[in-house]
Amino acid sequence: MAKLRCGFFKFTGCAGCQMEILRLEEEFPRLLELIDIAYWPMVTTRGWEGDLDVAFVEGSVSTPRELREIKEIRERSKVVVALGECALTGCIPSIRNFMLQREAEKRVYDHPLWIESIAVRGLDVYIEVDIHLPGCPPHRNTILEVIKGAALGRDPYLRRHSVCIECKLKDNGCLLTDEGRPCMGPLINAGCGAICPSLNRVCEGCYGPMSATNASSHAQILKEIGLSEADIRRKFRKYAGWTPDFRREAE
Ligand code: SF4
Ligand code: SF4
Ligand code: SF4
Repeated sequence: MAKLRCGFFKFTGCAGCQMEILRLEEEFPRLLELIDIAYWPMVTTRGWEGDLDVAFVEGSVSTPRELREIKEIRERSKVVVALGECALTGCIPSIRNFMLQREAEKRVYDHPLWIESIAVRGLDVYIEVDIHLPGCPPHRNTILEVIKGAALGRDPYLRRHSVCIECKLKDNGCLLTDEGRPCMGPLINAGCGAICPSLNRVCEGCYGPMSATNASSHAQILKEIGLSEADIRRKFRKYAGWTPDFRREAE
């Protein structure tokens, strides 16, 4: 079987999604029987030559250079994987979109005139994405499943339910309904194994919104349990404020 030529790219984000791939270290010897690392600046100095079978793209698009690069990646790759929430929705960097561009630049840089940046957006806004891997970062086993699926020529198995289902599978009590705590779990993609509620912490939403969430109804519930409007805005803004579902509640 021919090895898959894979590329790993970093746009605007914290590199945590790539670190999650590196955490597959025990699997790497077997993984390298399946894939050829054609491009990955974090682990090799090899330049990007030739086309790719699978491109993993971490991070959001927030500069003209990234915009040019994502289009080139699309042209030169059979499968493009949006790796993690920044690539899917803009995630934490997209909080910047809620203030004027110049104001954000002035807060961070001494010489903002040298900065070339655009609004922070997920990859979908600019290109067709084949596989969406939610999570900040996605769980390494999900990344492995995508690679296995590509090697075997099948779609990866990805969970389509909410964090609440994982929570129930663990037999957790509900922090929202039993204790009146502001959990975002009902709106959020599964995949983490409901880590936070299992440790008695509310879900903050780092796996991003499921499709067709009822965000306004959840905002009303958060209000009824005592959150202020500012806190509700922060909840929706934190990981996915720029998505169509969350944006109305985040503004
Ligand atoms: S999705 Fe989270 S872990 Fe991945 S690059 Fe963005 S901020 Fe970092
Ligand atoms: S604790 Fe949160 S994630 Fe768990 S069932 Fe309740 S609302 Fe859902
Ligand atoms: S429970 Fe929620 S905040 Fe915690 S890791 Fe899972 S998706 Fe992220």
